Amino acid sequence: MTDLTLMEKIVSLAKRRGFVFPGSEIYGGLAGTFDYGPYGVLLKENVQQLWLQMFRDDRDDMYSVDATILMNPKIWEASGHVAGFSDPLVECEKCKRRFRADHLDNPTTCPECGGVLGEARQFNMMFKTHAGAMEDDSAVVYLRPETAGGIFANFKNVMDSLHPKLPFGIAQIGKAFRNEIAPRDFIFRLRELSQMEVEYFVSPKDWAQAFEEWRKVLHLFATAIGLPSNSVHELEIPPEELAHYSKRTIDFEFDYPFGRKELWGLAYRTDFDLSAHEKGSGVSLSYLDEETKEKYVPHVIEPSLGVDRTILAILTSAYREDALGGEVRTYLALAPKVAPVKAMVSPLLKNKPELVAKAREVREILKKVHPAIAWDDNGNIGKRYRRQDEIGTPFCVTIDFDTLGETPEHKDTVTLRHRDSGEQERLSIVEVAERIATAIR
Ligand code: ATP
Repeated sequence: MTDLTLMEKIVSLAKRRGFVFPGSEIYGGLAGTFDYGPYGVLLKENVQQLWLQMFRDDRDDMYSVDATILMNPKIWEASGHVAGFSDPLVECEKCKRRFRADHLDNPTTCPECGGVLGEARQFNMMFKTHAGAMEDDSAVVYLRPETAGGIFANFKNVMDSLHPKLPFGIAQIGKAFRNEIAPRDFIFRLRELSQMEVEYFVSPKDWAQAFEEWRKVLHLFATAIGLPSNSVHELEIPPEELAHYSKRTIDFEFDYPFGRKELWGLAYRTDFDLSAHEKGSGVSLSYLDEETKEKYVPHVIEPSLGVDRTILAILTSAYREDALGGEVRTYLALAPKVAPVKAMVSPLLKNKPELVAKAREVREILKKVHPAIAWDDNGNIGKRYRRQDEIGTPFCVTIDFDTLGETPEHKDTVTLRHRDSGEQERLSIVEVAERIATAIR
């Protein structure tokens, strides 16, 4: 399987099985937008839930906010986005196509038609709109280009309402918008994306230790969502390439089918953000350490994760083909924690009411372990298994006449089928519930 066909296969499976659809598809689509379908939503929710657990709930020093997408434009002036959130844009003089200059091998020649490319100019990536009835400059607002702005803007509110001591952090999941010049690679480079960001506030003397802590959490998260450790790589940004506000940045890169690319970022942003907002707003954002009586603007460690790039990394890692039972089989070897459906329950035959009734009963029992227990009684059992394989369901549970007591020693046992190996075993209903519970713990 070449890498290109792997990408095509992932895109096709994502659509065929209801994970990810092209945005506005019935109208011909809209570049840089994709919609999550029924299984995609469940996968995304599981990823976000796990992130909340590992980045917020497993710690005692983390809080959440849910800020608006539209914010006072002064936030983006202070953060530097109005002046500097831009990419170099070049336009082909012949075919008029536009490219990111820094993505081209040859910045003078159009990669599509061979025409001459014009001068690069800076293109601001923030989406602009107007708040209220007036469409003049005074009404300009931006769709947030990152969720971080809403965290910094609420730093004081969290301090004043909950009085946390440093170090502490604020986590937020939400949409962000970037008018990318060339959206591409499926859900890798989008114009509307979701981010999971933490701003972790520390005393300047503690930044290095906090940086190491979050670095570990990022690796643990990668493992928890099923990314193989040999496809996640740290890229330490050399000092001369660091953004002006950063003293240390590590890009976490992933081996996507189209190359090694940024998956997540981890940055030590010094006190740049809060100082800039203090200056921009005129409101003090400094912290008083009650023990040392020292007053200072907190420094920030920022682990920043794109949800969509995470999902693409998960799909890439999980995609498998084999020849189980002599036929080509496609399946997603998803970590049970993120799999949209944890188990599928089915009666061996759908026209036997006593089997159907028992299978429904089993499903209700398993739903107490996790709500995502599917029901499928369509087609033969082999087809049902294949459908579940393609959406990455780790377990299939089949109820047959033995479950009903036809062979007395098998009463209340079911067949548990494992996705990756295709192996089946006979277990009691209680044991199956335990297996599922253990797998998703
Ligand atoms: P790139 O260099 O690939 O454009 P970036 O360095 O601008 O990315 P950040 O500003 O650090 O990205 O954003 C934090 C995270 O948000 C990234 O690590 C990535 O996971 C995600 N992200 C950024 N831009 C996009 C996008 N256009 N589409 C999908 N996810 C994105």
